Amino acid sequence: MSLALAKNTEKDLWTILEQMSLRDKIGQLRQVDGSGGRSDSSLLEAIREGRVGSIINVVDPVVVNELQQIALEESPCGIPLVFARDVIHGFKTIFPIPLGQAATWNTNLAKEAARLAASEAYAAGIRWTFAPMIDVSRDPRWGRIAESFGEDPFLNAVFGRALIEGFQGEDLAALGSIAACAKHFVGYGDSEAGIDYSSTNVSEFELRNVHLEPFREAVMAGVASVMSSLSDVDGIPATAHKELIRGVLRDEWGFAGLVVSDWDSIKQLSVHGITSDDKEAAYQAAEARIDIEMTSDMYEKHLEDLVCAGEISGDAVDAMVMSVLTLKQNLGLFNAPYTPRDYKLGASKAEINDCAHHQASESFVLLKNRDAVLPLDQKSIDSVCLVGPMADQPQEQLGTWVFDGDSGLSVTPLKAFQNSLHGDCEVVFEKGLETTRSSCGELAEVAVEKASRSDVVVAIIGEEAILSGEAHCRANINLPGDQVELVRRLKATGKTVIVVILSGRPLTIGNLLPHADAVLFALHPGTMTGPAISDLIFGKAAPSGKLPFTLPKSVGQIPIYYSKKNGGRPATHDSIMSIDDIPAGAEQTSFGMTAFHLDDGFEPLFPFGFGLSYTNFEYSDLTILSNELTQGGELEVSVRVGNVGLKDAYEVVQLYVRDRVGSITRPVRELKAFEKILIPAGQDRDVRFSLSRADVSFYRRCREYGVEPGAFDLWVGGSSLADLHVAFEIDA
Ligand code: BGC
Repeated sequence: MSLALAKNTEKDLWTILEQMSLRDKIGQLRQVDGSGGRSDSSLLEAIREGRVGSIINVVDPVVVNELQQIALEESPCGIPLVFARDVIHGFKTIFPIPLGQAATWNTNLAKEAARLAASEAYAAGIRWTFAPMIDVSRDPRWGRIAESFGEDPFLNAVFGRALIEGFQGEDLAALGSIAACAKHFVGYGDSEAGIDYSSTNVSEFELRNVHLEPFREAVMAGVASVMSSLSDVDGIPATAHKELIRGVLRDEWGFAGLVVSDWDSIKQLSVHGITSDDKEAAYQAAEARIDIEMTSDMYEKHLEDLVCAGEISGDAVDAMVMSVLTLKQNLGLFNAPYTPRDYKLGASKAEINDCAHHQASESFVLLKNRDAVLPLDQKSIDSVCLVGPMADQPQEQLGTWVFDGDSGLSVTPLKAFQNSLHGDCEVVFEKGLETTRSSCGELAEVAVEKASRSDVVVAIIGEEAILSGEAHCRANINLPGDQVELVRRLKATGKTVIVVILSGRPLTIGNLLPHADAVLFALHPGTMTGPAISDLIFGKAAPSGKLPFTLPKSVGQIPIYYSKKNGGRPATHDSIMSIDDIPAGAEQTSFGMTAFHLDDGFEPLFPFGFGLSYTNFEYSDLTILSNELTQGGELEVSVRVGNVGLKDAYEVVQLYVRDRVGSITRPVRELKAFEKILIPAGQDRDVRFSLSRADVSFYRRCREYGVEPGAFDLWVGGSSLADLHVAFEIDA
């Protein structure tokens, strides 16, 4: 008997539901790992018996269609399966890791990349991705910072929206559209000590004003699903967090989509020690309204008993099943359950590569450029020595979460240099170190020797892909192995040394800077890493990336982020002292005590939003054009940005606000808007921003969102240190 109707309206879904047995319903709430494919007989049997509603990790469209056929033709209700996969930053073609996408500050490109990734995944039968990850991440030790859009709630919110719009398109049922999933709800980015899966202890205000904000935006953007986090939040594992999932996400924000657990996270409730057995774990997750259980089988084993015992109501199960059926309906699966064999990608291979190239290129952040050594003038160089363990590693440049990424498509820096310099300039290559974790030995000696015979040295170093991502956290975030020593030796040859860092997280690079004439920092930029580097080094493009995180001097400074609170004793340059200036036997004094480290001061190595270009920008004429915030209208500001150098370049114009006095302490600055614009050399542009009351609202001491009247500061500039300032007021 097939209950799937030709065209399902909401009423039809209820008709389907009414005809399903409790077992059939529970089957829809179960997602299984299908990596065993068609040779997994228990998988086939489960599909046949209607005990599976969705499958993760099958990426062969032929197998997808075969399994789908079993579900449609042999299962009791004939309800189509939905196939899911982590499509995080590309499928076959790999775009920069999300942290690198954030460094572009270009949401249009991120949306386009997500659309193209969706198209490639769709061709493999995938209709649901577990992205974007919008965990505000302020601890670079945490390997999953790679998957986030960095430390700022606003940046996570706008990039999250861009990816959701890209994946889902205008119509989820259209060819090439896949459902997005905002994850991990919530607070996961605050994992203690930057260790994955550890606890998070976030205050109610911090949770509301920082961690929940990107999710609120995702819901407004129409995200189809949300995933609960693996960690506990203030003592309650997110997967059992009724107050957050039902209370905030569903009731307060009106989220009508589907909530999926994380991998085995319902079973893990007992490991957390919040439940004493599996049955209670199923109960608590269902009570919280987790609709789909990913991979563990607590619902399958215990939900029926819980319903029969009246502990979970039949209505609650129906609501969970309706979320699943609605997703399937929105994806058009009832009408078109199979992956079309003749599906053509939404863009040509060349267009996909162009987007990957463009996004990679915009993701590089220029941190240092002594005497404008970059860009190199190709005509005046006869030989370039390319060194480093990341210079010719097709897989490593792709970064984490690339199960389906095709490293055969990767263009490495070596390949790109050889292609773009074609004979005009000799390209000499020497690894220098076997991997990023190796010690200097013979390879380093050969590299130094070759470097000493070349005109310029380009060292491509960083972290291999496996050093970041889920469960890959580091207590030290230095450049691994002897990479700094290698660069030191290269510089000792007296040659110009350009360093390019490809990593999965912010790194402490203070010890590298003195040995490098220029430093380009990128977060594993993907398939087209090589051409992006070659364009930037030889001036075909100017760097336009800005840090989406604060780059610390040392691990001891973590957490360090620009939007901190002022505290009662903020540090100033005049108030701090260095550990070296303290005389021996100095007595304790309480004079002038402020918030800083004796050994590292209070400032980071590089601030959030920072990035140099091959030109200079001057900001002026910051003007409030109108302020109608008191009346419920908008604040309009304008600023003039001039390109005072000789090269056309993009600038990311950033606007920060401070609410001077609040019922809870407010951040010293908050990013509220930005715009990336191309300004030709010698020209200037007027950039306008408008802020609404929502932009200056926050979750207040009275436990309500709203604006608190009073005085505000506003800065516009090229980083979070922007100093062009105006003040404005909102009256009561
Ligand atoms: C991760 C999720 C991911 C899931 C499925 C989990 O371990 O935390 O982010 O979507 O696996 O692969």
